[in-house]
This record gives sequence, structure tokens and C-alpha cells, in this order.
Amino acid sequence: MIRYRLICSQDHEFDAWFRDGAGYERQVKRQQVTCPHCGDVDVTKAIMAPGIAKSPDTDKFAEAKAHEVARRILTAVGKLRDNVEQECEYVGDQFADEARAIHYGDADERGIYGEASDDDAAELEEEGIEFFRLPNLPQRRDN
Ligand SMILES: [Zn+2]
Repeated sequence: MIRYRLICSQDHEFDAWFRDGAGYERQVKRQQVTCPHCGDVDVTKAIMAPGIAKSPDTDKFAEAKAHEVARRILTAVGKLRDNVEQECEYVGDQFADEARAIHYGDADERGIYGEASDDDAAELEEEGIEFFRLPNLPQRRDN
């Protein structure tokens, strides 16, 4: 789950939870996100300042907490990545073409993974093709 601070066309700010970034894009596009103050569906992400801790003590605590969370995410992503590599077919930089072919029934339905540019990813998202990104892990040695 991810929380975004949103702002409507009347400048009302509010927080909303989404499954992920793509979920946010989809719900806003379908006008399923309404401003709780005026019911406006014309909402966008507000610019959000990073959370700033109040005292040096909270600072250290927040920092340790953030590191712990980051470590857990990296571990989880590492496992997920191993899974993907075992279960799915590697298609390299053909990912966008292949994902599209599967989506439109021109190729066998199967799990694939590979590389896509930001432009490719944006186009896939626009076409409503489901995929998700794995961050590159710095400690990965075998490539
Ligand atoms: Zn509003």
C-alpha cells in the first residue's frame, strides 16, 4: 500500500491509499478518486515534503526505522526477484513488445520478465497492461 497526498482542482489537500503507483493512476483515470471536501474527481498528486522529525532523538529513531524498513524491502524484493527468475521467461529488451503480444492474445499467456524503458512502461500502463517493476538490487553479483 502506498499513501499519496492529493490535491483537487479547488486546492483541497487530502491523503488517500492505493495498492501501488499504477493503482493510483488507474483509479484517478477512472475518476474513482474524489475529493472528500467537494467531491471533485479532478485530483492530482500534491507536492509532498519529506517527513521531518521534530527532535534529534526522534530523528535517530526514524532513521533507524527507515533503514530497517529499507532492509526488509530489499530482502523481500530479492526473494521476489529469485521467484520471478525461476518462474518466468526472460525476454530481455523485448519485454514491452512481448507483454503487449500476450495482452492482445498474439502470444502464449505466460509470465515474462525483462527490461523496459520508462517510455515503454508508460505506454504499457496507458494500454492497461499489467506489469510491475523490480528495482535493480545493488548487491546482485551474477549479472
Ligand atoms: Zn475539493
